[in-house]
Amino acid sequence: MAASAAAAGPATFLPRLPSPRSPSPMLPPLGRRAHPVAAPLCLSAKRRACAAMGSSSSSNSGNQTSLMLPFSFTFDEDSSSSRRLYRWKRVLLKVSGEALAGNHTENIDPKITMAIAREVASVTKLGVEVAIVVGGGNIFRGASWAGCSGLDRSSADYIGMLATVMNAIFLQATMESIGIPTRVQTAFRMSEVAEPYIRRRAVRHLEKGRVVIFAAGTGNPFFTTDTAAALRCAEINAEVVLKATNVDGVYDADPRQNPNARLLETVSYHEVTTRDLSVMDMTAITLCQENNIPIVVFNLQEPGNIAKAIVGEKVGTFIGCTRDQELNGNTLVQERRLVNEA
Ligand code: UDP
Repeated sequence: MAASAAAAGPATFLPRLPSPRSPSPMLPPLGRRAHPVAAPLCLSAKRRACAAMGSSSSSNSGNQTSLMLPFSFTFDEDSSSSRRLYRWKRVLLKVSGEALAGNHTENIDPKITMAIAREVASVTKLGVEVAIVVGGGNIFRGASWAGCSGLDRSSADYIGMLATVMNAIFLQATMESIGIPTRVQTAFRMSEVAEPYIRRRAVRHLEKGRVVIFAAGTGNPFFTTDTAAALRCAEINAEVVLKATNVDGVYDADPRQNPNARLLETVSYHEVTTRDLSVMDMTAITLCQENNIPIVVFNLQEPGNIAKAIVGEKVGTFIGCTRDQELNGNTLVQERRLVNEA
């Protein structure tokens, strides 16, 4: 469904991501990782805000011609020899536990972890910095177990956070098996198996081309890994939260109950919260909204989607606002394009 819906959508101006196997002039020589663009690469909070709002008022607006639209493609015109093949320089990929389980009865489907690893490998080669927050819902959800045999909510949530560490270690092992340098950082200390979360250290790993997997959520009960994703994204100054799930994106109704439910291409934060579109929990959405962090919700099971999302190709649903929409309040409702109608 995602594939047909996306194919029917408005034309995108993105160049295709080259096959990871095909030689690319962008790729650094073997054994040396170089960023293809020499200009400052990571958007500051202000520029991220402009990107999320489609603002042209950024001080760099002359160079950042395509920050105007969601899914558009950014490059530095003054470095013509090194055009960026991606939109985001640093991304936060959120992989839910459910997505890791795929359609299988086991907690984790190794084919899914390998698919994630391969797609992440293809984009880290281009110079995109990738941090990952993993969920744990495939193994344990605190809220579902709280109250059972005297298990209080906080203890249940700590078990849930431990579940995310299991997923993180599995994902790390898969990534390293195909040569992607990866570090796991946990929100509470488990120093025999992973590094503790240290923000500056995480950023340094990313700058060195390592994938950083954040485990144990926020380290606090009563939160979720979606909130951890929003929080870590803001902390490490990543430009977008890419939420990989088992569904194609955000619908205007529950597609399992309503066959006429429509997949939305763009939604504002406000709509997500007021229409209860159940994309992420409110804390996570609010955190993204307050920090102008856009969110892309997409289906991890569609081959190629992770790489597409990471480089900024149109995939799934984009949550954020253009500047006009922000200024005009509810015009987003009129301007929103529905993938199924295109
Ligand atoms: N959890 C928590 N605090 C956090 C993150 C997670 O207590 O900051 C616990 C919570 O019990 C949750 C479980 O870890 O149910 C697994 O996380 P989540 O449900 O977010 O995983 P996902 O739905 O992404 O698989």
